[in-house]
Amino acid sequence: MQKGKINVQTENIFPIIKKFLYSEHEIFLRELISNAVDATQKLKTLAALGKYNGDITDLTIEVTLDKKKKTISVKDKGIGMTLAEVDKYINQIALSSAEEFIKKFKTKTESEMNAIIGHFGLGFYSSFMVSNKVEILTKTYHTKGDNAAVRWECDGSPDYSMEESDKTERGTEVILHITDDAKDYLEEFKLLEILKKYCKFLPVPIRFGNEKTWEKVEGEKDKDGKDKEIEVEKPRIINNTDPLWKKKPSDLKDEDYKKFYHELYPYSFEEPLFWIHLNVDYPFNLTGILYFPKVKKNLEVQKDKIQLYCNQVFVTDSVEGIVPDFLTLLHGVLDSPDIPLNVSRSFLQGDPNVKKISNHITKKVADKLETLFKETRPDFETKWDDIKVFIEYGIISQPEFYDRAKKFCLLKNVDGKYFTFEEYENLVKPLQKDKDGQMVYLYATNPQEQYSFIQPVKERGYDVLLMDGILESHFINTLEQKLEKTRFTRVDADTVDKLIKKEDVLPSKLNEDQQKSIREMIEKQVDSKKFTLVFESLSEKESPFLITQNEFMRRMKDMSALGGGGYGFMGEMPENYNLVVNSNNPLIGRLLIEPDGAKQTDIIKQLFDLALLAQNMLKGKELADFIKLSTEKIG
Ligand code: ADP
Repeated sequence: MQKGKINVQTENIFPIIKKFLYSEHEIFLRELISNAVDATQKLKTLAALGKYNGDITDLTIEVTLDKKKKTISVKDKGIGMTLAEVDKYINQIALSSAEEFIKKFKTKTESEMNAIIGHFGLGFYSSFMVSNKVEILTKTYHTKGDNAAVRWECDGSPDYSMEESDKTERGTEVILHITDDAKDYLEEFKLLEILKKYCKFLPVPIRFGNEKTWEKVEGEKDKDGKDKEIEVEKPRIINNTDPLWKKKPSDLKDEDYKKFYHELYPYSFEEPLFWIHLNVDYPFNLTGILYFPKVKKNLEVQKDKIQLYCNQVFVTDSVEGIVPDFLTLLHGVLDSPDIPLNVSRSFLQGDPNVKKISNHITKKVADKLETLFKETRPDFETKWDDIKVFIEYGIISQPEFYDRAKKFCLLKNVDGKYFTFEEYENLVKPLQKDKDGQMVYLYATNPQEQYSFIQPVKERGYDVLLMDGILESHFINTLEQKLEKTRFTRVDADTVDKLIKKEDVLPSKLNEDQQKSIREMIEKQVDSKKFTLVFESLSEKESPFLITQNEFMRRMKDMSALGGGGYGFMGEMPENYNLVVNSNNPLIGRLLIEPDGAKQTDIIKQLFDLALLAQNMLKGKELADFIKLSTEKIG
């Protein structure tokens, strides 16, 4: 037997490993199984090259749990190791790379550690996070020369022992003696959960115990005349070794993609809207499938559903920093060995490879959307309401994406018609230019509530857009910067005449003194902090009183409520409206000649209530009083 001290530079590396990655101890299993998969793949390659001709029919990796002995073992049928190799790879290389990894991150705080993407680099020695003793039993695939089986053992001190053993099967078994504080891992369900998380798509079958399933018995019926089924116990294989994203897109049907979506998200009942199959091998390696899901009202729920893999090994489901923010709303998988995984997220943004990958994904998403738009526009329109949030988010946050998206981004009007930016500009050009030559896009955020403002606008022959999405105020701001000479105004931001200012203004029927005395009457009854009084000479048919809300102020308020766009510092914005008095409406003129003061007050109150009602601002007691009063008037 050979005994020795592992050549540790850092004092007491084992206690450090144990404490390490406090919240992510479970990755030990990923590391051990990855090694087992590598050893198996190497053997397959050797066999394919004709350098190994032993039996490779069954290469299943077995994970076993022995609760009594408190052990977990991972056993492969891969290339195995000779004594010299154990000494070289385990005692020297693996240890020094674990040491290097630890040194690099020792000074980091726990939250910094958690920001490190995949915690790759600790390798085999991560088993000491959960074990007080680790054994390796291994036998090389070599049939000649130095090919004796080896048993290696280390109890977590720098001392190890290594000796020849009588193992007869090719491959490696790693046995972990689990410490008491990691005894959770000795629960079958816990182990199964970790296996399903990290190993679901590994390329070599992985077995963990058995499972019971029901199987039909050929030709036999039960007493109800149905096919007879019996319960059978079968090896439980936890992975799909040939996941969809590794296959050729040309070999796949829509059903395959939908089925795979449900394999990824077993708890989702929704169907994805469409998908993009990524397949690049130069200048970087990237495969994956991204799905466009139906959007939920709450964007946060949607986020962080993309699973990141490295050669089919699960790494994380937070792709923040790897794909542009607006695409983190998509679902699916990305698999790339070219994303550095032992670095922190903040480092990623600067990594040239990650930048290339991120740009590539954005480009592919834009390509797909453009194709869908060009080739199947009616279908694209039916999906629009579900996908517009991605596109608007992309336009707001990524200038390069806007350059692509301006071709297929749609605007929808309140009548449910869709237009590209170009089409819409042509539609409104003849009528919706103001006297300064600026194009005014009118919109509603809630057609029900803004009905009484939409109608007069449409009667003018103007078009009204529907802007009812979650990101709309930011989106509108962005469009105003991108589209030339274009301004957005909500239908209730001003009176119809002033929404789009034209040259010709009607003369006022009231002179300044008359306006002044009417102003005094109204100011007695209306809160002038909340309502700014404005006189306008509109047509006689327009309402006598109209409540409008300045576009700029309202948008600031909406954005500060959303919390984005840097307007948060303003805190709660005060409510402020314009009370427009139409000096040409006969009822306003009547106020001047009304001799009865009580009657005057009554008219103003009634007109004001009606204006409030048109803006959905008459609520509670005021509304009840109004209804009561109006009812009495009928009687
Ligand atoms: P890494 O896998 O990143 O190289 P590890 O510390 O996990 O680092 O492993 C060190 C080395 O030990 C591996 O590169 C491999 O040569 C050897 N090794 C580990 N596990 C096995 C195994 N199951 N079969 C054969 N060789 C193994």
